[in-house]
Amino acid sequence: MSFAASVLTLYPEMFPGALGLSLAGRALEAGTWSLEAIQIRDFATDRHRTVDDTPAGGGAGMVMRADVLAKAIDHASPPGDPRPRLLMSPRGRPLTQAHVRDLAAGPGVVILCGRFEGVDQRLIEARGLEEVSIGDFILSGGEPAALVLLDAVVRLLPGVMGNAVSGEEESFENGLLEHPHYTRPQEFEGRPIPEVLTSGNHKRIAEWRRAEAEKLTRERRPDLLATHPLVK
Ligand code: SAH
Repeated sequence: MSFAASVLTLYPEMFPGALGLSLAGRALEAGTWSLEAIQIRDFATDRHRTVDDTPAGGGAGMVMRADVLAKAIDHASPPGDPRPRLLMSPRGRPLTQAHVRDLAAGPGVVILCGRFEGVDQRLIEARGLEEVSIGDFILSGGEPAALVLLDAVVRLLPGVMGNAVSGEEESFENGLLEHPHYTRPQEFEGRPIPEVLTSGNHKRIAEWRRAEAEKLTRERRPDLLATHPLVK
């Protein structure tokens, strides 16, 4: 069973974009996942194919219309569609690796990409959209955020990553940032590879990596330690 992504956007040309290359692109070709980019404008009802209007209450910018978006969503995701419906939004729940993993284990995802000031609140409520943010900054549209989310999900689909183990040891998977990496040459501009890594002693190597991961996390992301009781 393949993971099915439907993306609602005013810029379908942005898809698959970067996801048509490398691991995600090969998996798309192989049918491990599918991607449908739907033009929201096709669901407008007037001659000018209008999708937005001025904000009720006044103010700058434009707001995407609930009626047009509802038609687009009902086309992409009719009642009974088991896939979660997401709205990319800076007001949403911050995306985490745990959420990415949950999505990757499911049947797929329906993603609405906002533009302008955002979308009519009534649409969010009426179609049960789950708002997801990719960070505390403002993009000009939800499309790059959708690409980020899908990239993170697709690489976890079975068979996409060559070496499945590397996924399990990565940053966030155990509540820690990952340890540093080294490869040849043995010495670079006077800096040798840490001796322990070339010792061949796997127990010492594992201990060193764990200690480095804890040190890095304590220095850079103490907030991660607070939510992970295993690490002190
Ligand atoms: N006026 C809004 C921002 C609109 S940005 C506000 O202040 O909250 C336009 C669109 O870009 C949004 O509707 C959303 O779909 C997308 N977007 C912007 N920043 C984002 C982020 N950090 N995460 C996810 N989507 C984002």
